[in-house]
Amino acid sequence: MHEVGIMREVLEMAERAARDAGCDVIGKVVVRVGAFSGVVPEALEFAFAALQGDWPMLASAHLEIQSVRGSAFCETCQREFAVDDPIFLCPTCDQPTARLVRGRELDLLSIEAQESDSPKAAGKGRMGTQA
Ligand SMILES: [Zn+2]
Repeated sequence: MHEVGIMREVLEMAERAARDAGCDVIGKVVVRVGAFSGVVPEALEFAFAALQGDWPMLASAHLEIQSVRGSAFCETCQREFAVDDPIFLCPTCDQPTARLVRGRELDLLSIEAQESDSPKAAGKGRMGTQA
């Protein structure tokens, strides 16, 4: 399950972002996952739960996954269209395109972190296999 490795990377980034912001408690980790990222959201949640214990600052954190639907671009029609299947057929000209413009996202979108007592701003980070 490669989601564990991905989640470990995400949590390392989240920790770094929190520390950069002078925080030591993370309340929420928001991850953006594209429909064609090759990552199963349920597996990510499982990995998060499994790894959470390794990071004291994440002890009470929860994971939020934002799904991104696939979207492809047809050069012929110069238009973008939503795709759910791995074959991207333009609904206008019926031709396949290989240009997936959205759906490969796998980003740490944001975290909510704070110092042990006072609430503080969140940090941002990115990781990606973006097209
Ligand atoms: Zn087209």
